[in-house]
Amino acid sequence: MKFDILTLFPEMFEPINQSILGRAQEKNIIDINVINIRDFSENKHKKVDDTPYGGGAGMVIMPDVVYRAYKSIDNIENAKVIYMSPQGQTLNQTKVESLAKEEHLIILCGHYEGIDQRVLDKIVDEEISIGDYVLTGGELPALVLADAISRMITGVLSDNICFEDESHYDGLLEYPQYTKPAVWRGKKVPEILLSGHHENIEKWRKKQSLLRTKCKRPDLFEGYCLSKSDEDLLKDS
Ligand code: SAM
Repeated sequence: MKFDILTLFPEMFEPINQSILGRAQEKNIIDINVINIRDFSENKHKKVDDTPYGGGAGMVIMPDVVYRAYKSIDNIENAKVIYMSPQGQTLNQTKVESLAKEEHLIILCGHYEGIDQRVLDKIVDEEISIGDYVLTGGELPALVLADAISRMITGVLSDNICFEDESHYDGLLEYPQYTKPAVWRGKKVPEILLSGHHENIEKWRKKQSLLRTKCKRPDLFEGYCLSKSDEDLLKDS
């Protein structure tokens, strides 16, 4: 998977070089390329924004500098262009999984009041929001998107089971996790997890997953299709 990220603040992308994403890049499983939109300004002061037509607060990023930065990317014909925007579809795990099937994503980050609508109309395929609130720029949302997609790509995590068991993958929240010590400040790890009985552990985990989703996220639970064995597990509680 190749990501090209268009931004005015490339320094904000240092986290992609750390931890799991850093290692995935070293192994060439993912390729994340950060492009500074300002490098494509033809203004002698490298100006990239101007006041909004019609008046109002803030500055708007000009269309041509964004378009030139976009055109500098190789093979744009086969890439999907995503504009990080509070006006976009809200990101969820289903969307992440569908984007992880793409081969090349171009992620455009706005800043200030945003980007001139004409260039957005020309190059953007999809707008994605990370929630119904407004951030100062698209850089943190782009990091969220690149991270969520990258961990779905085979080889980035040690095993696919690492994400298949996790919250949201199958519409439920994950069961509680425990590690050593077996007793911490008088609180014991549930006995079943020390039993070594894998089938019973699986059943217990599934039941916990169902119960916490029902309690913490009734909206998700409502949309989840219970199997006969799920219903039996819940009857036992
Ligand atoms: N004027 C815009 C509006 O009201 O819709 C908001 C601009 S915001 C201050 C600057 C940039 O931050 C946006 O262009 C977008 O790239 C990014 N941004 C802000 N909130 C976001 C969110 N919730 N999800 C994704 N991107 C966001």
